[in-house]
Amino acid sequence: MFKELIDRLERENNLTAGEYLELIRARGQVRDYAAGRAVEVKKKYYGNKVFLRALIEFTNCCSNNCYYCGIRAGNSRAERYRLTPEEILSCAREGYELGFRTFVMQGGEDPYYTDDILCGIIGEIKSCFPDCAVTLSLGERSSESYRALKKAGADRYLLRHETCNRAHYMKLHPASMSFENRMNCLRELKAIGYQVGAGFMVGSPYQTEEDLADEMIFLRDFGPHMVGIGPFIPHSDTPFAGFEAGTAEMTVFLLSLIRLTLPRVLLPATTALGTIDARGREKGLEAGANVLMPNLSPGSVRKKYLLYDNKICTGEEAAQCVDCLSARVRSTGNITVSDRGDYNNEI
Ligand code: SAH
Repeated sequence: MFKELIDRLERENNLTAGEYLELIRARGQVRDYAAGRAVEVKKKYYGNKVFLRALIEFTNCCSNNCYYCGIRAGNSRAERYRLTPEEILSCAREGYELGFRTFVMQGGEDPYYTDDILCGIIGEIKSCFPDCAVTLSLGERSSESYRALKKAGADRYLLRHETCNRAHYMKLHPASMSFENRMNCLRELKAIGYQVGAGFMVGSPYQTEEDLADEMIFLRDFGPHMVGIGPFIPHSDTPFAGFEAGTAEMTVFLLSLIRLTLPRVLLPATTALGTIDARGREKGLEAGANVLMPNLSPGSVRKKYLLYDNKICTGEEAAQCVDCLSARVRSTGNITVSDRGDYNNEI
């Protein structure tokens, strides 16, 4: 019966919340079956290619206070840093030489980086590397700001909604943050013409199985180009230090359900998934993911962008990262490619 639901999901890219919930509650073979179907669907649109994104974590200063996040404003133990435009550009140059054709600028919500500063950096990257895509992941900004950054050359924007349940959102964030604003930002980004990424943490505190089913409905309705999900992992200097982490198993199964719901989606096997399980990223690729986002920040700051405890890959040199990832990708029957890896609108 679960197999039939998976087959219908593959055919129609759609189930009811109740049906998604049944699948989420099911254990055992259904997950392997879903993974197999999800990989077939991924192959249809992207072959056996895995796209690489060079993640440049350029600031860990943040004015927000999300209860789960290690770089929250209230964590006085976080050692703060900001990269200069030159440092960011030199990361991009190194990434380009290693074959990366997408640069993701991610950071805390840091007002130091005004639109002028960011537009300058984006413009530089685009003029030095015109064959590359620039993705931003800078949190909530004004519509004017999103427009200015797009005009400066940014192509994509990642903004995880974190949860599609308003009441749950309020349990993860202080009252100064608003669910409505986050959702408005996502809609705005789409309207402006970015390729947009949404996403959520799996197993975050107070999340229910019903919430996860609703996430699938939300994603189907919103139709993002990218979806970032990873297990929640507690950080010891946050209010959620004492909560349990989400599991690799549920994350991997949800990756399959997302692939079957949004067949063309660009779907990373995230660092958090690799942190919770040594083969987590490989398992993600074997369940329908097709993107990896290794950290290319300079070695000196890598250990400081700690959203959660025990984060992997905070030591290696960029070149070592690429070799290690290529080997992991090959072990799943896929290959890493030097390609912008845009959303496939064509077939
Ligand atoms: N400031 C940006 C970037 C946030 S960091 C923004 O607000 O969008 C990127 C993602 O890391 C977050 O969206 C969140 O989903 C994830 N994250 C933060 N803390 C985490 C934790 N403790 N465990 C797992 N993922 C976490």
